[in-house]
Amino acid sequence: MPNEYDVIVIGAGTGGYVAAIRAAQLGLKVAVVEKQKALGGTCLMWGCIPTKALLEHAHALKVVQDSKEWGITVDASAATIDMARVHERKDKIVGGLTKGVEFLFKKNKVDWIKGTATLTGGGGVDVVDGEKQTLRARNEIIVATGSSPRGVPGIEIDRRRIITSDEAIHLKEVPKAIAIMGSGAVGVEFASIFHRFGSQVTIVELLPRLVPVEDEAVSAELEKSFKKRGIACYTGAKVTSAKASAKGVDVQVQAADGMSQSLKVDYLLVATGRGPVTAGLNAEGVGLQMDRGYIKVDAMYRTSVPGISAIGDVITFGKPGHPQLAHVSSAEGILVAERIAGRDVRPLNYDHVPGCTYCDPEIGSVGLTEREAKERGHDVRVGTFPFGVLGRAKMAGETEGFVKIVGDGKTDALLGVHMIGKSSTELVAEATAALRLESTVQELITTIHAHPTMAEAIGEAAHATHGAAIHM
Ligand SMILES: Cc1cc2nc3c(=O)[nH]c(=O)nc-3n(C[C@H](O)[C@H](O)[C@H](O)COP(=O)(O)OP(=O)(O)OC[C@H]3O[C@@H](n4cnc5c(N)ncnc54)[C@H](O)[C@@H]3O)c2cc1C
Repeated sequence: MPNEYDVIVIGAGTGGYVAAIRAAQLGLKVAVVEKQKALGGTCLMWGCIPTKALLEHAHALKVVQDSKEWGITVDASAATIDMARVHERKDKIVGGLTKGVEFLFKKNKVDWIKGTATLTGGGGVDVVDGEKQTLRARNEIIVATGSSPRGVPGIEIDRRRIITSDEAIHLKEVPKAIAIMGSGAVGVEFASIFHRFGSQVTIVELLPRLVPVEDEAVSAELEKSFKKRGIACYTGAKVTSAKASAKGVDVQVQAADGMSQSLKVDYLLVATGRGPVTAGLNAEGVGLQMDRGYIKVDAMYRTSVPGISAIGDVITFGKPGHPQLAHVSSAEGILVAERIAGRDVRPLNYDHVPGCTYCDPEIGSVGLTEREAKERGHDVRVGTFPFGVLGRAKMAGETEGFVKIVGDGKTDALLGVHMIGKSSTELVAEATAALRLESTVQELITTIHAHPTMAEAIGEAAHATHGAAIHM
């Protein structure tokens, strides 16, 4: 007899584990099948958490290196980073958080079934972990199998010298030189980490600007900042070949002007995106409609097969642009769990998803970029305010960057907020709430921002959108 549950979740990443806890809270009997030895998926083990832990180490090193500025007497020129200690601290944080998810499963009576899941049809799931066991879902199966790093044709990832973020996060040494293919969030975060640790960093981006999904003004500011601190940026450029040896990688780059450049680096990090994980799932076997390898879903995350939903990095709505973000997968997980439990749920608005890129300087953005707003036919009005004018930014010694607001000139609707600079990944929460509450730019102007804070730049950028910034 198969083990029966109301809901079976496949994958315990930020999509799957959150869906499972919410379903259990709503009184459903839930099992989660996870093949890794720990819970939490990409975010906890190879993504959000370990990368941001490394960024905090990079920031600590920066404070020591700038000690003279702070009036602290140490020999800053002798400051180095101890990678063994860095990994020890990072692994402790990751271990604590994955154990935390285990605790939450116990608290909510969610069963963790260890092993690899295969869909068998009719609500059935086979799980193999040495031995095979058979489960059956009375209500729904939620597929949350996530994503893994994706390479590019012609560049062979050997995971020793030509690596992905999965290996970069565990590098035992600080590379003398590293080239990074791709300047999305993963690429520019690792560029910031390794540059601060002491590596010579080169970024190669195929598109004409860094962080191509961001507002163009943000891309330009990041490139200016990276170049100022010595990170080489090739945009509109292509890695044409990469040959790995025991000691390093010979990389050929075709620059934007068509000229070929040779780079000798210790590592090439391929950060060109992530693809869906469905290997061994038998998704097509049970009739799931797929699109470029992703599982196709509707706005309520139903797949083409009744009784099977899918969420997170593994899904597509059939058009480009489903964000592969931890908080998106969790929001989808909660929505699906509530739908299965019979709650009244509304589709998520993907224009209100905040994006955070934890490079140095940080980027926070939500809503439409200036270009997207124009493409959608808005009468676009923008306002920008530099952080550097603010007392708080001067005190922190972090004067780079700005807040840019995109509004509609006719209705005054707030359409988007884009920022680069210290604390942008925190400040974006205010902008997200404002968009969610369908705020106007005027309402942001009349929102009182505490002084002295970095958040004052949001109020000032709103004033600037109406042509009247106070401190500029
Ligand atoms: C370097 C890096 C940094 C990132 N930083 C951020 C960030 O700062 N903020 C942010 O929002 N996002 C970030 N992300 C993205 C974020 O990690 C993902 O969007 C998120 O983890 C997706 O969650 P998920 O639940 O869809 O899938 P995953 O987290 O990938 O989880 C899927 C799980 O399913 C399991 N699984 C797969 N197939 C099976 C099977 N057949 N049987 C059993 N188990 C299976 C896997 O083992 C895995 O645990 C980052 C990603 C990377 C790589």
